[in-house]
Amino acid sequence: MRPRLIPRGLRWYSVDSATNQAHAISTKQQLYTTDPITPGSVFFLPHGTRIFNKLVQFMKHQQTRYGFHEVITPLIYKTKLYQQSGHWENYRDDMFKVVGHDSSKDDGLHEYGLKPMNCPGHCMIFDKFERSYNDLPVRFSDFSSLHRNEASGALSGLTRVRRFHQDDGHIFCDMPQIESEIENTLKLIKDTYKVFGIDQIEYFLSTRPEKYIGDVATWDDAERQLAAVLDKQGQWQERPGDGAFYGPKIDVLLADAFGKKHQVGTIQLDFQLPQRFNLKYVGEDGNHNHQPILIHRAVFGSLERFFAILLDHYQGKWPFWLNPRQAVILPVNESHIEAAEKLQQRLSGDIVSNEADLAPMTGHHFYVDVDKRSDTIGSRIKEAVQKGYSYILLIGDKDIANGTVAIRSRDSRKVENKSADEVYAMFQQLESNYQ
Ligand SMILES: [Zn+2]
Repeated sequence: MRPRLIPRGLRWYSVDSATNQAHAISTKQQLYTTDPITPGSVFFLPHGTRIFNKLVQFMKHQQTRYGFHEVITPLIYKTKLYQQSGHWENYRDDMFKVVGHDSSKDDGLHEYGLKPMNCPGHCMIFDKFERSYNDLPVRFSDFSSLHRNEASGALSGLTRVRRFHQDDGHIFCDMPQIESEIENTLKLIKDTYKVFGIDQIEYFLSTRPEKYIGDVATWDDAERQLAAVLDKQGQWQERPGDGAFYGPKIDVLLADAFGKKHQVGTIQLDFQLPQRFNLKYVGEDGNHNHQPILIHRAVFGSLERFFAILLDHYQGKWPFWLNPRQAVILPVNESHIEAAEKLQQRLSGDIVSNEADLAPMTGHHFYVDVDKRSDTIGSRIKEAVQKGYSYILLIGDKDIANGTVAIRSRDSRKVENKSADEVYAMFQQLESNYQ
């Protein structure tokens, strides 16, 4: 399929215009907060952290399946590293400097930089060991926090931040492996967005700019492979000459529930960093001088930004699996509180209710609260709906006698009677289907 050309510099809807609304939802649901004492760094509150951790857990599981090895890497490095990576030359003003004490230096100080991205650290890990063509592709993932010194005037909510996290991954591979690596990455991107009810995805291929490094044949080969993979996705568009000087890239845009477009995933090929770090592997020919290609890729992109997109997309009505308030139990009156708390224990899952001394390594955990205030049932139900609980459970005399509970969802007034086991099985089912 011939890519359709689009004008350069096309502006997409920016998530920032939804910031106020997202912020209002966050305030109501107590998800995150910020403070002028640390501009652009977000405090995730307990309920926001639940969502954040679910997203991370989701992606860790996917990455394991896709052959990534998670690594944990330093936050600060001596500026020498950034000189080698090129960040010092091009990115210095956007980096935070950290001063450490070093008795070996005249002034007793040593300058470090807070990392703006994970790639240099991952290149170092690649370089620590002798690598052979058999080891490729080597795939590292990292959920580290990153810091970029954005101008303080531009900071807002979750979308313009100084501290953020990516579902970052780097793939070190050889030229013929590019196609299958990109294909896998696009599959993961597509499958992931689908979980959030997003199936409108647009792909853009940015190709060789006028100023570039490497040779034309390598660029042509890489671009041909990227285009071949994109052809399999159906529609895509080319941004000719818009690639970074160090490699072509694919941008992925999604349209949320309101048709607003957001740029999220990126796949960036890089011919430069492996050169700067002099990365080598032993080829099939026994020579030690083969250089891998580096692919930077992120599916969510910035987790903070993806969080903001989801706030807007769901308008606070989180699907059960992601909801920081999955269910609330309302005892009809004081005499039902004990039964309500017993039910809470059962429905919270085996991480909480297991009888062993220690919580198990794998198991279920659901966020179930009890609202035992003496307000009327009607007003407690109304508040539970407002707070965004997925399910509201009522327990009174009849329910205790029948061994059941009256359950309704946030969106429907229809009440069903189910046993605790049936409700628990339903929770498990919803979670395992990402509903
Ligand atoms: Zn990177």
